Amino acid sequence: MLLLIFSGLISCAEKREEPVQNLAIIPQPAGVIQTDDTFYLNNKTKIGCSGELESKAAYLADFLGTATGFNLEIIEESGKRNVISLSLDSSLKDLGEEGYKLEVQRKRIDITAFSESGIFYGMQTLRQLLPVQIESKKIVAEFHSWTIPCVSLTDHPRFTWRGLMIDCSRTFWSKETIKRYIDLLAFYKMNILHLHLVDDQGWRIEIKKYPELTNLGAFFPEKYDEPAERHGFYTQNDIKELVRYALERNVTIIPEIEMPGHVLSALSVFPELSCGGGPFEIHPFFEGPGIHEDIYCAGNEEVFRFLESVLDEVIQLFPAEYIHIGGDEAPKDRWEKCPRCQRRIMVEGLKDESELQSWFIGRIEKYINQKGKKLIGWDEILEGGLSETASVMYWRGWLTQVPKEVVEQGNNLIMSPTSHCYFDYDYAAISTEKVYEFNPVPEGLEDSLRHLILGGQANFWSHIDRTEQGLDKQIFPRILALSEVLWSPMEVRSWERFENKLQTHDIILEESGVDSYRKSESNGK
Ligand SMILES: [Zn+2]
Repeated sequence: MLLLIFSGLISCAEKREEPVQNLAIIPQPAGVIQTDDTFYLNNKTKIGCSGELESKAAYLADFLGTATGFNLEIIEESGKRNVISLSLDSSLKDLGEEGYKLEVQRKRIDITAFSESGIFYGMQTLRQLLPVQIESKKIVAEFHSWTIPCVSLTDHPRFTWRGLMIDCSRTFWSKETIKRYIDLLAFYKMNILHLHLVDDQGWRIEIKKYPELTNLGAFFPEKYDEPAERHGFYTQNDIKELVRYALERNVTIIPEIEMPGHVLSALSVFPELSCGGGPFEIHPFFEGPGIHEDIYCAGNEEVFRFLESVLDEVIQLFPAEYIHIGGDEAPKDRWEKCPRCQRRIMVEGLKDESELQSWFIGRIEKYINQKGKKLIGWDEILEGGLSETASVMYWRGWLTQVPKEVVEQGNNLIMSPTSHCYFDYDYAAISTEKVYEFNPVPEGLEDSLRHLILGGQANFWSHIDRTEQGLDKQIFPRILALSEVLWSPMEVRSWERFENKLQTHDIILEESGVDSYRKSESNGK
């Protein structure tokens, strides 16, 4: 296998003996035909595009230049030889916003798509057709021609939501780490990065109106002796930089601002927003209870003034259509004993504390909707009644009836069950093969409801693996399996072929500096 892979990178003198390479594209394209011919990328190759695609052409020239050392010229072209041509084509509307066509012929390469996102994905596939050394961060100087096997490829995703959630609260991840992950997600055609920015262990996003939230709420007390890199926060400028970086790579960042539970970081700064008044102190995950009983007081108007001010700033920072408000694991013990919460239940004519949570989320949803955004919550937002417009992120894999229940009510659903999508679980519990077997569409679901399943995502909770190496190991290679689950049509999926492709991607990931699970384990299924 290695011989075949490396044989793709050859000197000019040898090139006519070049065997046809095995394709190792992840995720598997919807349709691909390979012919027995080769395009040779050399320092005379040009990138052709129209004006509107200049930034995409520049991205490609920059990427290809790193390992090849070629300074590829960008030209306005039509029909020339030795050109990689990028062009938009309105007749490809049926392939959707992210679909594309890639034609590699002996004399030229054409990437066409309905939108810029499709062009971007065509370029990612082209990257995967090149020899793996194209991912090198240094010039591979001894070669002056790079081979690309000739293919005719038409491709588009099965689902529009292809995500990864990273918990930035229990462990803070640097801006550089997040950028590295955006690059890796984009390479595998994943388009959502959900950042869990608030939890008991830390408030990780600067809110200008409440500087104390991060000055105090983003740092563990000294007595825990936590390494400096594990706490901290993103400034608003950091967030803007990350959002821009992601958008250039067709990745949308979804912010999650937890409520009403998992908010000890906020209550440690503003204890008056709880039912009992505190005081509270944040601590690393294993130093306290997993789930805290102290949550925002639903009977206190100050809580809503605070959350609306926070959301105002969050909405300004993230262009995403959706804001995630958490909504999970909020114990009702405090609300049961709090006179203000009980008064709220009475005044609003609610049955119990579950309905009080539903009322809380509904009030926040109205506010978010007024600002032109949509609300997503974890599947607990069903309890006490689900609004007609909220989208649900399904996580409690043991509640197998929930996915159908949600879509039968007409709500959008994103599938991230503990059974297949919890990448903080170890590989004995969720193997790469198990992830590969995942089907986000529940068995027996009526076709007319299928469109309500937006897609799926992996979740990584950062309380156990708290180093960058640990993060890599838990995410890779499972995210490659998920990318194929969420992108490729069911009929082209094959575990056997995927496993073979992984051998090539082991080398690509190594070149990219990823500490994959397969790197340390011989049996990395
Ligand atoms: Zn209360």
